[in-house]
Amino acid sequence: MSEQKREIMRLEGIRKSYNVGQPNEIEVLHGIDLTLVDDDFVALVGPSGSGKSTLLNLMGLLDQPTAGELYVLGQPTRSMEDQQRTQLRGSALGFVFQFHHLIQAFTALDNVLMPMMLRAGKPNRDAIARARELLAAVGLEDYLQRKPNELSGGQQQRVAIARALATDPALLLADEPTGNLDSQSAEDVFALFRKVQQEHHCAVLLVTHDNDLAAKCDRTVQLVDGSITPEP
Ligand code: ADP
Ligand code: MG
Repeated sequence: MSEQKREIMRLEGIRKSYNVGQPNEIEVLHGIDLTLVDDDFVALVGPSGSGKSTLLNLMGLLDQPTAGELYVLGQPTRSMEDQQRTQLRGSALGFVFQFHHLIQAFTALDNVLMPMMLRAGKPNRDAIARARELLAAVGLEDYLQRKPNELSGGQQQRVAIARALATDPALLLADEPTGNLDSQSAEDVFALFRKVQQEHHCAVLLVTHDNDLAAKCDRTVQLVDGSITPEP
């Protein structure tokens, strides 16, 4: 079992300041080292304001660190052009947010098709088949034509997970994906992340406030005041 796992993402000395060069400049991440490998299932926990969302945005290539290097599938990303970074984000990473960010005017099926359309233009038969498959995998095969406001909070979040999987990411990043749900829906959505990790073989990192859910992850990373504290 000592088989070497593929490295998905590596952070080395990542720092992040906001308002750089202004009187209110503030460093919120103070040198983060973190490695994620294939099949990792990690909870990122920490008090409000500790920098969890900031870290997730950096890991998702949505924002740039102030210092340090971030490798995605072995590639250093700091010096990449925006276009290259966008392409890497679209091919390697998937996101789920606390509020699902689904397009209200689109059906569940069209929301899941969106990432594939962004990549390849008009959806072909294969893309539609894949979107249906993903929605079936999250238990929504009977809700393909529903719009977000015709679905429960938990169902909307499941559509968001199906959408995040559309491009077959190596890493799924989720920022408090269950934070807006009742406890049963939170359990269900959490179980779905586990299923996704096992069946799609992608690494999952999820931010959660819920200690019970964090305890069910394989590993917990704790952020306090912008630094990772050692695991107990
Ligand atoms: P968490 O997700 O753990 O609650 P955040 O990453 O959202 O923490 O915030 C970490 C710190 O960075 C907080 O002090 C917050 O006020 C600050 N912060 C977050 N985003 C910005 C921003 N765009 N500009 C300035 N400060 C910010
Ligand atoms: Mg946050």
